Amino acid sequence: MKKIVAKFGGSSLADASQIKKVKDIIFENSDRRYVVVSASGKRNKDDDKITDLLINLHNNKNDIKKQKDIFEKIKVRYIDIVKNLEIYFNVSEVLDNILSESKKSDTVDYLASRGEYLSAKILSIYFNAIFLDMQSLIIFDDNKKVNYEVSYKNIKSAIEKIEDEYKDKRIIIPGFYGSTIDGQIVTFSRGGSDITGAIVARAIEADMYENWTDVSGVMFEDPRIVEGVPTIEYITYTELRELSYMGANVLHEETVYPVSKVGIPINILNTNSKKDKGTMIMHNIPSIVKRRVVTGIAGKKGFTSILLQKTLMNEEIGFVARLLKIFEEEKVSVEHCPTGIDTISIIVRTELLKEKEETLIEKIKKEIKPDVLNIEHGLSIIAIVGEGMIYHKEITFEIFKCLHEANIGVKMIDLGSSGINVIIGVSDSEYEKTLIALKKLSDIKV
Ligand code: ASP
Repeated sequence: MKKIVAKFGGSSLADASQIKKVKDIIFENSDRRYVVVSASGKRNKDDDKITDLLINLHNNKNDIKKQKDIFEKIKVRYIDIVKNLEIYFNVSEVLDNILSESKKSDTVDYLASRGEYLSAKILSIYFNAIFLDMQSLIIFDDNKKVNYEVSYKNIKSAIEKIEDEYKDKRIIIPGFYGSTIDGQIVTFSRGGSDITGAIVARAIEADMYENWTDVSGVMFEDPRIVEGVPTIEYITYTELRELSYMGANVLHEETVYPVSKVGIPINILNTNSKKDKGTMIMHNIPSIVKRRVVTGIAGKKGFTSILLQKTLMNEEIGFVARLLKIFEEEKVSVEHCPTGIDTISIIVRTELLKEKEETLIEKIKKEIKPDVLNIEHGLSIIAIVGEGMIYHKEITFEIFKCLHEANIGVKMIDLGSSGINVIIGVSDSEYEKTLIALKKLSDIKV
């Protein structure tokens, strides 16, 4: 028997009808025995996510009227879910207890975590399954960093114990939180139930980590900008990391770490269209799979380029180190730095410069003494990602042909040192047009 960890995101738990779909998915495969859940998400685009309501409840704890309104909203949502699932669960009483318990805690984490807690409680009753709290199993240190090794061990032994006693029962696990060693609840950053799923998968050495969402996988490009983009059927962990970093919003960034280390594949699937194959994320893609040369493309607006020119810069030993030290001192992280013989551009996120720009520039002028210093805001960075892509000689030609045909002015090119991406910079005003032009790359197959 295989072990599958199935994690369901907020939209899959938004109301009773979504939860019924989750039940069908779980019970149609006996390998799906470990279920990790988010808090209920939005039922439609104007709706609230339960986690947002809970955070608001905490933020308004000094405004009795507001707090009451928010609390009522939360109660109504849960009463509706429980009623429509036709289960016995006194959710009103549980919520009242949560509210009074929250008064003992100064941080938002306790309340913020209760959406996942309630989802898992409700599903465990509805599925006649075992609820397994993560409060004392996923352990955070004082800097809010997870102690992975301890957490894997805790979860593994807790699950083994349950399985000794209840052989065929599903185990329902709330995502998004754990606790400090002394039991104070700590949440991950937003979207963190994905990480819980990965930790559980790693702890029990699962064969597969299924991540059920409301999209049928990772798309070749942002479908809100480009029409008719295909789904990526297979992607490596590294490629996914590059795309996520550049803005492709699929999984929480920290999800890949626990599972990629031991090669547990992640399958992104769609609760609302369960027959779709979705996207498979793994180390080694089977060689029979016919892949595209370019796996995917993602980008972001809002970068600034700081260009320096200085004659004989290349002969000044330590020049780059001194320049980067200034950015380090000002706590501005550097995204890219393409160089020429006498030039170097430092690309940073514009929002990081905010009040620091003047000081930073003064320091550079004083300490580096460039002949020319140019600042350009409004730059978009786009990553064209594909492992092994650079071995396809025609690919750079195809990229620039697309850009040329769409009459796009390229402001920066960086052939990523890992060899799996080509990074280009264009002006923010040409960002969408560039993505549309690059869609043609999805037609090139290996
Ligand atoms: N409920 C949390 C959030 O909305 C965590 C999650 O859904 O993964 O961010």
